[in-house]
Amino acid sequence: MISRETVEETVCRLFREAVIRIPPDVTFAIKKAYLQEEDEIALLNLKAILDNIELAEKMEVPVCQDTGLPIVFVRMGKVEVEDLYEGIAAGVERATAEVPLRPNVVDPLTRENTGTNTGQMIPQIDVEITDTDNLEITVFPKGFGSENNNALLMGLPGDGIEGIKDFVVRTVLEAGGKPCPPVIVGVGIGGSSDLAMKLAKKALLERVGDRNPDKKLASLEEDILNSINESGSGPMGMGGKTTALDVKIKTAHTHTAGLPVGVCIQCWAARRATAILRDHM
Ligand code: SF4
Repeated sequence: MISRETVEETVCRLFREAVIRIPPDVTFAIKKAYLQEEDEIALLNLKAILDNIELAEKMEVPVCQDTGLPIVFVRMGKVEVEDLYEGIAAGVERATAEVPLRPNVVDPLTRENTGTNTGQMIPQIDVEITDTDNLEITVFPKGFGSENNNALLMGLPGDGIEGIKDFVVRTVLEAGGKPCPPVIVGVGIGGSSDLAMKLAKKALLERVGDRNPDKKLASLEEDILNSINESGSGPMGMGGKTTALDVKIKTAHTHTAGLPVGVCIQCWAARRATAILRDHM
């Protein structure tokens, strides 16, 4: 049995790691963007981001003051876990006090802050059942400068690939500098409205720079990425070659009458950290 205490400790440790250390694939993509850049302002912006990443790691402090909304993805295999939800929430509360994380969680109507980064339905927990013999926990602190620019299209079948591409590119470019570009763009295609949005967010868990194993989707990802970057919107929306570091697509089958498309935008502070727990822990 995986104890509640182990879950709490793991979640607390993962949030600390995530908010302080940007994953190497993301840092590598930002460095690559810097080396390819020629625009003076874009170079300054990318250098500031890279210095920020380095300093946060050196000083063991969060890389951005917005430590996000706590989102946790769980992949649950054939294991026994004691009080999974309570353990995760306790881990978030502990990380909020110990790292510390900025208390971002409020009542949606009164705007009263809970002070703990927990509340009704928060941390937001997504559980997927798997065939493995372990429990995989991924924390995903999501900044809202980028989240506020997400969008859903309840498209029609006739919109086709061109309609999808058009919607994704338009959504990213209309957001301008608000999501703190260079961004990573998660796209969910198919399902119903909520599944399309969930797939868009889950797509952001994939490594930046890896291409989709499905050739059709890989080519659509590259096509959308090129169109976004050809716009010249650039880092922080102030001009330059790299507006997006990558585009990630996930799909599901859908109803014959529809074509839902979800877009989830992730800022350069693309924080995520994963741990795998086994039964005897
Ligand atoms: S969008 Fe991202 S980089 Fe910008 S303030 Fe929010 S967390 Fe920080």
